[in-house]
Amino acid sequence: MTSTARNLDGKAIALQIQEEIKSEVAQWSAATGKVPQLTAILVGDDPASQVYVRNKELACKRVGMGSQLIHLPSSTTTAELECLVHELNADQNTSGILVQLPLPKHIDAQRILDAIDWRKDVDAFHPYNVGLLSQGRPHFLPCTPFGVVQILYRSGIKTAGKRVCIIGRSDIVGKPLAAMLVQRNSPLGPDWANATVTLAHRQTPDLPKVTRQADILIAAIGQPEFVRAEMVRPGATVIDVGINRLGDRLVGDVDFAGVQQVASALTPVPGGVGPLTVTMLLSNTLIAARTASST
Ligand code: NAD
Repeated sequence: MTSTARNLDGKAIALQIQEEIKSEVAQWSAATGKVPQLTAILVGDDPASQVYVRNKELACKRVGMGSQLIHLPSSTTTAELECLVHELNADQNTSGILVQLPLPKHIDAQRILDAIDWRKDVDAFHPYNVGLLSQGRPHFLPCTPFGVVQILYRSGIKTAGKRVCIIGRSDIVGKPLAAMLVQRNSPLGPDWANATVTLAHRQTPDLPKVTRQADILIAAIGQPEFVRAEMVRPGATVIDVGINRLGDRLVGDVDFAGVQQVASALTPVPGGVGPLTVTMLLSNTLIAARTASST
C-alpha cells in the first residue's frame, strides 16, 4: 500500500493568521484612533487582476482594515501613474500602496514601483526593501515568499540545515524566497532560515537530478504540472506556488496526483500558497500603519 502526502492546507493557515491580524488591528486602532488602509491601483480591465484586487479588498474588510481601489483606464501614461503614486505617498490615510501587476505594456512598471515610498511598499518590491532583505534586516517581507515560509512554520516543517530547491528565479517569488531562506534568522526564528538553497531555472543542467536532492522542493515557474513524481525525493515536502489555467481547471506547477504518492507533505492548488499571499499583504499593511504612526 502506498501512503499519500499530508495536505498542507493554506486556506486554514491563512484564516488562522487573519484572526491574529484582526485582533492586532483592533488593538492598534483602539490605541491610536486610526485604521490601517490599503490603497490598490488597478490600470486597465484585465479580468484576473480585477479578481485579485477584489479579493484583497474583501480580505482587508475581514480584518478590520480600510481599503481603497483606484481604477484607471488602460490609456493611463507612466507620468500620470507616477504622479498618483506621489500623491498617495503623501496621503496620511494611505498606509500601504499596491500597484496591481501586470501593468499595460506601454507603462514603465519599474519606474512606478520605484516611485512608491519604501515605507508604504507593502509588496516589498522597492529596491530599498529588496536590499534590506538581502542584508537580512527586512522591513517588509515579500508576500508570496513569506506565505511559503508561514506554511512551513505553521506545519512544523523546519528549514534549518535542510536542502531546499526553488525552481524559478523571478523577482517576486524565487529570488526573494532564496534570500530569506539562506539568512541566519527570520521573523519566525532561526529554524525557518539557515537552509542550503539551490535556485534552479531554465538553464539548470539535469534539473530532475537537482530537484531529487531537495528535502523541500518549491516550484514557482508558471508551467502546469511540470514537477512530476520522478523529480521528487521520497519523503520530501513540496510547495506549489504556481497558478495556471488548464481548460476550466486551476492547476499548480506540480502534478498533484503523482507527487502525492512520493512526497511527505504537499500544498494543493487552489487553497495552498495563494491565500497566504493575500494574508501577508494584510500583515505588511499593519506594519506600514505602525511605521507611519511612529515617525
Ligand atoms: P515568472 O514568469 O516571473 O518566473 C518564472 C521563473 O520560472 C523564471 O525564472 C523562469 O526561468 C523559470 N522557469 C520557467 N519555466 C521553467 C522550466 N521549464 N524549468 C526551469 N525553470 C523554469 O513567474 P512568477 O511571477 O515567479 O510566478 C510563477 C508562478 O507562480 C506562476 O504560475 C504565477 O501565477 C504563480 N504565482 C502565484 C502566487 C500565489 O499567490 N500563489 C504569487 C505569485 C506568482
